Amino acid sequence: MNRTDVLGVGFDPVDLDGAVARAVELAAAGGPHLIITANVEMVMRARHDDDVRDVLARAALVVADGVGVVWGSRQLGRPLPSRVPGIDLAARLCLEAARRRWRVFLLGGRPGVAAGAADRLRAWYPGIDVVGTRDGYFAADADRVVLGAIREAGPTLLLAGLGAPRQERWLARHLDALGVPIAMGIGGALDVWTGRARRAPRLWQTLGLEWCYRLVREPRRFGRQLAIPHFMAIVYGIRLRTLLRAAPR
Ligand code: UDP
Repeated sequence: MNRTDVLGVGFDPVDLDGAVARAVELAAAGGPHLIITANVEMVMRARHDDDVRDVLARAALVVADGVGVVWGSRQLGRPLPSRVPGIDLAARLCLEAARRRWRVFLLGGRPGVAAGAADRLRAWYPGIDVVGTRDGYFAADADRVVLGAIREAGPTLLLAGLGAPRQERWLARHLDALGVPIAMGIGGALDVWTGRARRAPRLWQTLGLEWCYRLVREPRRFGRQLAIPHFMAIVYGIRLRTLLRAAPR
């Protein structure tokens, strides 16, 4: 599928249903495949971080996690159909996992969080086969132990909540060794599923203000979220140049 370029990052032009359908195809094809839900922070990071840019380019599916990327795509005249929040895609993939008997592994969060999230998922999606969990606080030299546990569990779907972009880097680095059909970074979704963190109320989500809600609840995000005005300034700059070029002289 042709990707839609947003400041150098290629996005698959799919909505949530389209992303689920694509993920199902990828799972059926075997693996390993990486799915990335990228927000404005990741787009801006990719501009100066070759490693992140490379990981995005190698992913089998890249969707717009957040209203900012969709806004940018519209301003640039290549509109993406809609945002695909990572936590929504992850939940839909868990539903597919229950339906299709996929094996699921949950990695990330403080000790006990992934196991708690597994219990929640079993209640929400009866029949889901969560074959393993592991917390996300391990040193680099424990990578082999974590990889071994995942390989032994043999999941079809690996959901990794280690924070972005660490989770995408980690998954990309170990994708071949992991051999999982589909792997995806899910940020703080495990914390939300276990009730440790709250998502923005639906109205805030509908208004595209989820980022603002998170900023109010987690002011330490301020530095990271400076990427948003920076992104908007670059998009407006490109638009202005395009308009000036098109204007009659
Ligand atoms: N986390 C982790 N290992 C780490 C650092 C963070 O497992 O070394 C987890 C953390 O407990 C949380 C998630 O990664 O569950 C990051 O959540 P956040 O909402 O900050 O995600 P982001 O917006 O960074 O993707």
